[in-house]
Amino acid sequence: MGTVYLVGAGPGDPKLITCRGWELLHRADVVLHDALVGPEVLAMVSPRAEVIDVGRRAGETRWLTQERINRLLVELADQHSVVVRLKGGDPLVFGRGAEEALVLAAAGVPFEIVPGVTAGTGALAYAGIPLTHRGVATTALFVTAHPHEGPAGDERWRHIAHAGGTLVVYMAGARIRVVTERLMRLGRSPDTPAALVESGTLPAQRVVRGTLRDLAGRAGDARGPALIVVGEVARLSESLAWVSPGPLAGRTVLIARARAQRSRIASSLRALGATVLEYPAIHSRPGPDVDAVASAVEALGGSNREALGARGVLLFTGAAAVEEALGALAHAGKDARSLAGLLLVGIGRETIAALRRAGLRCDLPLRSYLPIRVVAALRRRIGPLEGHPVVLLLDGQEESALADALAAAGARTHPLRLATRAVDGRGRQPLERVIAAGALDALVLPSSSAAEALVAAGLGVPPTVEMIAIGPATAATAERLGLPAARVAGPGGAQALVAELLGRFGNPGSEVPRRAASSSDH
Ligand code: SAH
Repeated sequence: MGTVYLVGAGPGDPKLITCRGWELLHRADVVLHDALVGPEVLAMVSPRAEVIDVGRRAGETRWLTQERINRLLVELADQHSVVVRLKGGDPLVFGRGAEEALVLAAAGVPFEIVPGVTAGTGALAYAGIPLTHRGVATTALFVTAHPHEGPAGDERWRHIAHAGGTLVVYMAGARIRVVTERLMRLGRSPDTPAALVESGTLPAQRVVRGTLRDLAGRAGDARGPALIVVGEVARLSESLAWVSPGPLAGRTVLIARARAQRSRIASSLRALGATVLEYPAIHSRPGPDVDAVASAVEALGGSNREALGARGVLLFTGAAAVEEALGALAHAGKDARSLAGLLLVGIGRETIAALRRAGLRCDLPLRSYLPIRVVAALRRRIGPLEGHPVVLLLDGQEESALADALAAAGARTHPLRLATRAVDGRGRQPLERVIAAGALDALVLPSSSAAEALVAAGLGVPPTVEMIAIGPATAATAERLGLPAARVAGPGGAQALVAELLGRFGNPGSEVPRRAASSSDH
């Protein structure tokens, strides 16, 4: 029998999960999560784990009842060794975590509780509101805004209104007016400082300050998860607010992905405040021709000698191809010395970096995967390609056009598939929800293969989403795939793209229109 881990994911910012929580997401066999858990946290889940969304969003009926979830946890523990039950914030704070733990205890299923940063402290910290402050508030009360109608409800809220100190009201998004009016009616001064914190710790964070009297009017509707803080500490936010919204705050950008590597574009955009989603996840696996590398390289060295002065060309199209090739050589009892005398060509920054990591200098670093460009660059370097031996070490399926172009140019081309990529479409559900909510602002297509991977993974993107292709080749592929790019960023990588997005959406210095990536309030 396995163990069920009740894990708190923290309030939103994916970096706020605990080390223990992160470690368990990597080890998980299966993960059951709520709606509050964002896609960036889910991206930490091991690719081999099954991910089950048991959440309910505003307006939806829960498709799994709590009883069904409880039963599912017991069943899953029977089949798997690491079952993670992932909840927003802390699992034991208004999260029904204890109910689930009681069921597990009764069924004799071993469990562990991994605390998380609850919104009542985490979102407050990002809003610059301390829960307690010497001389200002020495007590704090956490409540939910759930309606308690009638005299019994009033009786309960009278205590809350008279408790003094700091009051944190969870699940407040749709009930800001009800809560503030009730507190005033039952005895808390209308001049008490109060604040609304919506989507705290997330790029879309919004903090509205006021008093019990005017907070509801100032705040308007909340679309993301929101809580209300009532008490003198709320005033401290004026001096302590430290999160300044970046120029892309509130914007959601999807980056299509064809490679397993971490994306520099994603981190640049996140630093500017955008919510960045990447899709699909790609896993690289050894390709079918890995065993043929050693002999192909040897033959290339041999043909080199015959071809009098013409250096055999070894062309790498991706980082995985570099890694697989060197692994295959090592397996055959060889090392980098067997590449001596060959012309090493690498396409793409990642490929060149992988060569460098392996201690190999790239003789001809190329930026463009466009076959005509590659052929032209090779001709410039070595002259006519007729009869020239070229071993192509391919990092995916999509580069066959390159082999064809080299062959057409007369090169004796020997393509080897060293890596295949498996598309992992699991992140699709949350992404489709973001798209359906109209919350996706832009789609970035970094390369043709990324555009192809996106379409192959079956994601439909409405034409209202701003599409940005990097480079003309990508734009052409996108057009062919039915993703006409409105804008084409120069091939300057992350920088050009960031400039493009800032030009379109950036709003430096001023309040950026707010868009919630997911609306949930339960
Ligand atoms: N277990 C969670 C709470 C679940 S109840 C925790 O410990 O935080 C859901 C409520 O939590 C929401 O309605 C909202 O009031 C609050 N909440 C969760 N995430 C939030 C966030 N990022 N910003 C503000 N409030 C949040």
